[in-house]
Amino acid sequence: MQQTPEKKAELKKSCVNCGAELLYAPGTTQLKCEYCGHSQEIPENEMGFEELELNSYLDSIGHNSHSESILMLQCKSCGANQHIEENYKSLHCVYCNSPLIIEDAQKEEWILPGAVLPFQIDQGKAHRIFQQWVKKLWWAPNKLKKASLDPQNTKGLYSPYWTFDAQLFATYTGQRGDYYYVSVPYTTVVNGKNVTKMRQERRTRWTPASGSISGFVDDTLIKASKQRSGVIPRKVARWDLSKLVPFDSSYLAGFVTEKYTISLKDGHLDATKEAERIADRWARRDIGGDTQRISSINMKLSEETFKHILLPVYISAYRYNGKRYNFFVNGQSGVLSGQRPYSFWKIFFFVVTIIAILAAIIYFMNK
Ligand SMILES: [Zn+2]
Ligand SMILES: [Zn+2]
Repeated sequence: MQQTPEKKAELKKSCVNCGAELLYAPGTTQLKCEYCGHSQEIPENEMGFEELELNSYLDSIGHNSHSESILMLQCKSCGANQHIEENYKSLHCVYCNSPLIIEDAQKEEWILPGAVLPFQIDQGKAHRIFQQWVKKLWWAPNKLKKASLDPQNTKGLYSPYWTFDAQLFATYTGQRGDYYYVSVPYTTVVNGKNVTKMRQERRTRWTPASGSISGFVDDTLIKASKQRSGVIPRKVARWDLSKLVPFDSSYLAGFVTEKYTISLKDGHLDATKEAERIADRWARRDIGGDTQRISSINMKLSEETFKHILLPVYISAYRYNGKRYNFFVNGQSGVLSGQRPYSFWKIFFFVVTIIAILAAIIYFMNK
């Protein structure tokens, strides 16, 4: 592994005209000044993606060429570890909306991201998607409807993921099952008489099978955030990874960036489990037939590389009756998902009204 000089991500970029901080404009490849409108193109990275060799990182995490220190703020209430631009308007945790104290910020080492998926929809649009959804909710508390009016509650977050590539080779032994059908007699009662009839039953013929499989496992995506209460729902956590661009800190300007809390080592364990499932699928396909049994599989991964990547999501955090609710909007596609609170009183009065109407109807019908 060759040592390159430590890369410094300049996380703050100033406007040449007025000195204000430039922010990344979603859906573009530009930084924009909110004050004077000046825009600046983010230079294209000609080096392309850099896949990092896995083994050298597993040995010595934190002390290698692709790491740097970054200012991190840990949320005391939910534990999320986030990097926030100094000028960020409200210094609140993206997940739980608890206030963060800038003095608590600490320098931490992190493995530099290899790629980033820039936000495609801006905060205003994400907020409108959230508002429209809230408007359609039945029996939602008024407090939730009110919270949805404040755009400060919707924040853009770059969520950390690991991706792994590897060459997979495996040998397996097992059995191939082929279906065949036999006619089997059975007795049944027709018009009070016992009658013997025939029916078709499926059987499986098993033959031993063994062999080897190999192939390239590309871009196994593993989440790198330990967040338990603010897990991004499956529906939202789907991004088109072909739109990844080589990492440039310019894309982070104006957004919150979360630092991975699942280590590369643990992420790699998850990726290996995923590779085992892939090997199982490939072995079954290789065996063929109608069904398969696998008795042993011996998998080897080689030429393993990984990337630390950042994926865009908008989060809205809201408290109701002491419980926390999160709403998520995919920062690339705009897909929304969220848990919702029900207003006890709205449902209560609805039920009371229905009972009163029914009672009135019964009363007048009896008259
Ligand atoms: Zn300016
Ligand atoms: Zn928090």
